[in-house]
Amino acid sequence: MVFEQSEVWHERAKHVIIGGVNSPSRSFKAVGGGSPITMKQAQGAYLYDVDGNRYIDYLAAYGPIIAGHAHPHIVEQVHAAMAAGSLLGTPTPWETLFAERLQTAIPELERIRFVNSGTEAMMSVIRVARAYTGRSKILKFAGCYHGHSDPVLVAAGSGPSSLGTPDSAGVPASIAHEVVTVPYNDVPSLEAAFATRPTEFACVLIEPVVGNFGIVTPEPGFLEAVRQLATKHGALLIYDEVITAFRFRFGAVKYNSVQPDLMALGKIIGGGLPIGAYGGKQAIMEQVSPLGPAYQAGTLAGNPASIRAGMACLDVLETPGTYEQLERHAQTLEAGIHASANEFGIPHTINRYGGALTLFFGDTPVRSYKDAVATDGNLFAAFFHAMLRRGICLAPSKFEAWFTTVAHTDEDIAQTLDAVRESMREVSQ
Ligand code: PLP
Repeated sequence: MVFEQSEVWHERAKHVIIGGVNSPSRSFKAVGGGSPITMKQAQGAYLYDVDGNRYIDYLAAYGPIIAGHAHPHIVEQVHAAMAAGSLLGTPTPWETLFAERLQTAIPELERIRFVNSGTEAMMSVIRVARAYTGRSKILKFAGCYHGHSDPVLVAAGSGPSSLGTPDSAGVPASIAHEVVTVPYNDVPSLEAAFATRPTEFACVLIEPVVGNFGIVTPEPGFLEAVRQLATKHGALLIYDEVITAFRFRFGAVKYNSVQPDLMALGKIIGGGLPIGAYGGKQAIMEQVSPLGPAYQAGTLAGNPASIRAGMACLDVLETPGTYEQLERHAQTLEAGIHASANEFGIPHTINRYGGALTLFFGDTPVRSYKDAVATDGNLFAAFFHAMLRRGICLAPSKFEAWFTTVAHTDEDIAQTLDAVRESMREVSQ
């Protein structure tokens, strides 16, 4: 495979777009550097780059493309939305119809507000929690990503109950001091954080099934303990379902019977167009302006193109058998990856839930961010490039997931597993 034109475009991009990418995760920094592939088109399960190479896509644009690329129904609805006026600056029937539909699927969403990204959804939901509780501190879990607003770009302090430190230049220490970060799946650390600050937390933020240090499910009893401790200490429980809502049927909120107070959504509910949403208990959401004192607004919020793309995406997902197929393909991938890794004696762990999986190089279970960090990044980088050269597009980081989409066929999965076997052979040498 030749990547000549990708390199040319990346060099050119670097002169105008900072780092040559519009989101750092698109760079190849986490897989040994080099030029990211410049894609110019996508259709169904495939991406096509500027050199004319075709890739089977498991990146799914970091999650939203669950229906596959350029799904005809989504394309048609977006065309119709654009033709009828792309932005009206007023309420529209579409946003109400979509909110009703989300509420039917996820009754916990008693009231909803649409925004433009997952970052905005999380930023807003934190404000609402602070407004409702009159408290300012936030409790969150190491390795969970909640977008790039200041209060969530905070790393853990020196101990489980200590205040955070900025995880990005430009985040003031004063903001980091409002945040405590504890390990995922670790109830004693959570208890210690609450014991140290029993009445200070406005909210607990969590990915109920993690997507951001690989796919990691909560241990039995963990979400229950989070819920119980939050309630006991008067903190709101916020589910960040930006990845998980509709990746899993209705979302991770259906993982067990634990119910959050508020939720943030994004990605899939925009069918590939910009969107975010937050919502939850009516009494809490009534904090939001114009009803309440917590201000949150958006010129582009609820734009008909994003809303109708999201509705069309849900239409596709409601086709009977869809989630079963997403999971069946992921199971086949999981089994095939295991077989090839074992054949070439490569220590590995696969975490899979529904139609999402992460392959870690290392043979210890991955239950927390620390576990994920300890896996072999160099081997992942070698495997990533070996797969890319065989026409398989994975996310360029050992912490990301492979997502199956409606567009993947049995033949795509079989071809992928051939590439996995060849790549495992290559990296084992
Ligand atoms: N929350 C989670 C769980 C995410 O995975 C992401 C993005 O990957 C975000 C929030 C931020 O969403 P966005 O990139 O749309 O701002």
